[in-house]
Amino acid sequence: MRWKETKKSQNVEDRRSRAGGFPGGKAGMGIGGILVAVLAMFMTGNFDLGKLLNLVGGSVAAGGGATGGSGYQSTPEDEEKMAFVSHILGSTETIWSDVFRKSGKVYKEPELVVFHQRTESGCGSAQSATGPFYCPADSKVYLDLDFFEMLSRRFGAPGDFAQAYVIAHEVGHHIQHLLGYTDMVHQKNGRVPQEVYNRWSVALELQADFLAGVWAHHMNAKEGLLERGDREEAIRCAMRIGDDTLQKEATGTVRPETFTHGSSKQRAEWFLKGLETGDFNQGDTFRALGLTR
Ligand SMILES: [Zn+2]
Repeated sequence: MRWKETKKSQNVEDRRSRAGGFPGGKAGMGIGGILVAVLAMFMTGNFDLGKLLNLVGGSVAAGGGATGGSGYQSTPEDEEKMAFVSHILGSTETIWSDVFRKSGKVYKEPELVVFHQRTESGCGSAQSATGPFYCPADSKVYLDLDFFEMLSRRFGAPGDFAQAYVIAHEVGHHIQHLLGYTDMVHQKNGRVPQEVYNRWSVALELQADFLAGVWAHHMNAKEGLLERGDREEAIRCAMRIGDDTLQKEATGTVRPETFTHGSSKQRAEWFLKGLETGDFNQGDTFRALGLTR
């Protein structure tokens, strides 16, 4: 997709070099240990920046990449990914502002936090292993750039449009939060049997896939940004992250009653429905799953 032609968002918060992302386990030394080492270096007059950065698991940046307390060092590829994230988020802002305006509403843009390995969110501690997520409590999307790598290698879903779909899915959760769907579903938690709650959760997730499709539809209609193969790329991605596919890989069996995101087929179908119709009103995944709101 020709993502560079979309507007850049101003709502990306770069936390990659924050101390919150400190890779404690990897460095094998706690913050306390590092402070002691720094103090020792100062006191012995033997201060060596290179040595210190080695201690925290980083290295000295050539030409001023983003290094900080976390030892994180940005590469040119990372900077390209940052630009990508910012353009995709910007494009969701353009599209959703439009859609909301047309139905007489005002779109409140979410923020997107890019972190490295670990950070705090309004929904608790965020870790790369959790994958990207949206936190309704602070209206922010959380993303570790390494996830794109994982998407490509572990999930076998490479490509920029697959990555854009993931961001658009999280922004879809923000739309659901603004429209009250998220609260509606969360209120069921603990009040209905777990298996029933799981179905509400699946409906919420499928709707986020549908909303990602609606975004893709308008983005393409407005700016013609999709290229050959993009559609297939996103569908492949949806198929790879369905609950049945992931469960089968992890345990060798599939238990539909435990699904929380939907099957691969469902995820791909709802994304496609959004992509083809671009019609916000056709995304009642709750009714489609036999759930009455
Ligand atoms: Zn989701």
